[in-house]
Amino acid sequence: MLVVMKTQATPEEIQAVCDYIEQLGFRAHPLPGAQRTAIGITGNKGEVERGNIEALSGVAEVIRVTKPYKLASRDVKEEDTIIRFPGTDATIGGRDIAMIAGPCSIESREQAFAIAEKVAASGAQFFRGGAYKPRTSPYAFQGLGIEALRIMADIRSRFGLRIITEAIDNETLGLVAEWADVVQIGARNMQNFSLLKRAGKLRKPVLLKRGLSATLEEFLMAAEYVMSEGNYEVILCERGVRTFADHARNTLDLSIIPAVQRLSHLPILVDPSHSTGRRDSVLPMARAGIASGADGIIVEVHDHPEKALSDGPQSIYPEQFATMMDELQQIAPVVGRNLPRGIQVETAKA
Ligand code: PEP
Ligand code: MN
Repeated sequence: MLVVMKTQATPEEIQAVCDYIEQLGFRAHPLPGAQRTAIGITGNKGEVERGNIEALSGVAEVIRVTKPYKLASRDVKEEDTIIRFPGTDATIGGRDIAMIAGPCSIESREQAFAIAEKVAASGAQFFRGGAYKPRTSPYAFQGLGIEALRIMADIRSRFGLRIITEAIDNETLGLVAEWADVVQIGARNMQNFSLLKRAGKLRKPVLLKRGLSATLEEFLMAAEYVMSEGNYEVILCERGVRTFADHARNTLDLSIIPAVQRLSHLPILVDPSHSTGRRDSVLPMARAGIASGADGIIVEVHDHPEKALSDGPQSIYPEQFATMMDELQQIAPVVGRNLPRGIQVETAKA
């Protein structure tokens, strides 16, 4: 159910409606919009008595939401969600395109700083890097853990880049949330419901990657798990799905971009690295991603990919990332978008 408040409803009236909903044993999700606030109601097994709510002061109408995902749906929130990073001009969603670049794994302080310096110089606003790696083989490099989180925090201080890194389980989630600006939940965990619910209790944006064989509805339901716990800052990411094709690691399903945008207000990124597995395919798919309307690109960059401890063959060189930035800057205006170069960080007042 969705309670649509009147345009002129006061914060006190909105609060009173939320209190009433919670007192009935449901959960209220106030969702401020450009024109008016809507309040999503979840936790209800059947119909909520709409008459009593409709009678509350400031309420315009009560609507039944028929889609299985509610808070992620455009029916509940019409305008695009824009995620902001306090103290900076960086955003994910909205008109500006977000560029997230960095190695698959943080391998050493030197490696991470060398790559961060180059991607920052090319104008990236976000730095990605794995501290905890979900690897297909238990014998493969599993990540540097907390040491990697510290390195990334130092990268944020040095270059201003905001940090995105993955939490692979409930144990690592708290630590990652403490150090990172965005918590990534990987493709293999897209339906790890206990992890999704815990991520919903965070007050940090969550980057949710599409599962290897997830349908659009399953993908949006995974986002709904996070949102149902009160964290509305979810960023979706198309990273390729399993098909019969064997010319690429996965198949980049770009047709999901307009489909998601039709149904949901959440931002969606394209990952041209994991979707192709091949360095020579990354730039063409990044171009296509932005042309298709994606809100940004998350891409693996390594200065010595031949020595990378994970995902070397799909990691592009920093020079290729510079070219990508130049090209996407030209494509962006064609699709009504803007690609900012670099991040402005407010300096602490003395
Ligand atoms: C990654 O971003 O390095 C990663 C493991 O991604 P995915 O979960 O999409 O495979
Ligand atoms: Mn990777």
